[in-house]
Amino acid sequence: ARINMLAPGVTWGKVQRELQSSGHTFWRPSLREKREAARRPSGLEPPKGSGNRIYYRDIHIPEMLVFKPMGQSHTEDVEMFDQGCLIFQQKASAFPALALQPPCGGQVIDACAAPGSKTSQLAAMMCNQGTIYAFDRDGKRLKTLTNLMEQRHVTCVEAREKDFLQVSTRDPKYSKVTHFLLDPSCSSSGMTAQPISDPASLQELATNQKAVILHAMRFPSCERIAYSTCSVHEEENEQVVQQVLASEEGKRYHLEEALPWWPRRGLKLPHFPEAERCVRSAWEDRTIGFFVALFARREKDAQMLF
Ligand code: SAM
Repeated sequence: ARINMLAPGVTWGKVQRELQSSGHTFWRPSLREKREAARRPSGLEPPKGSGNRIYYRDIHIPEMLVFKPMGQSHTEDVEMFDQGCLIFQQKASAFPALALQPPCGGQVIDACAAPGSKTSQLAAMMCNQGTIYAFDRDGKRLKTLTNLMEQRHVTCVEAREKDFLQVSTRDPKYSKVTHFLLDPSCSSSGMTAQPISDPASLQELATNQKAVILHAMRFPSCERIAYSTCSVHEEENEQVVQQVLASEEGKRYHLEEALPWWPRRGLKLPHFPEAERCVRSAWEDRTIGFFVALFARREKDAQMLF
């Protein structure tokens, strides 16, 4: 669960007090435990038999609190979840926004935004200032997003039902957008421990994934793009990134090392060793299978814009 500092009056102390009053116990690991855990993707391991109401701070993402998995935990009696003060989020799902690092007061496009988990995280990182243009082509899912933004005290989002590929790169409204979060539809194979793949549908998904990245690259002020999937297939991950970088548009960008503190890296493909700059996660990391790549515009190219 992520602590939502946008909710009025939320402080670490208040969260601690409320969790303790609902019977939860904060576990504080030793320095040695922390040092060892930081090096492995599975992170901290709470002591065996510590009960279902234990919680602790994630070792890699300090604003994230770790509870026992659904079904074992007792978060239903913590009102702070209903009030939008604490937000359930898979650890790996927090990676794209963390890699992107949108500036406070900046201009951001979240191109495939619904239902809005990452949109609200971006808003929190931007201190609710600036603008996040949130697009999704699915109207029903976008409605969920607008409801969630209200519940989570987010006011800097302009949500619109639209296929991102139909958003004009020449529209003056988006001429100052520098940061793009791209989380398009994928096979979701990372959501299950034993994924099944259908090569034809992977290709179809990859076509949309590449189109979304290339479209973002054409916006005049685009500086950084975080691309993510909850897929374990390299056809939707490293191969998409490799093919985008080899294209005309892609040559104006390079791959930045995403989240250097995270130990599990992208799969090294033949002729594409830079894939190690991407991030992967897996079920044994106490989260879902996930992938993130971070593109940054080459400096010379960015200067030519001004
Ligand atoms: N980022 C979301 C979050 O954190 O809650 C999850 C996004 S989900 C993995 C993928 C979404 O992308 C779907 O809601 C789908 O409708 C949308 N989508 C896929 N391709 C799109 C496109 N070309 N334009 C706009 N939305 C798109």
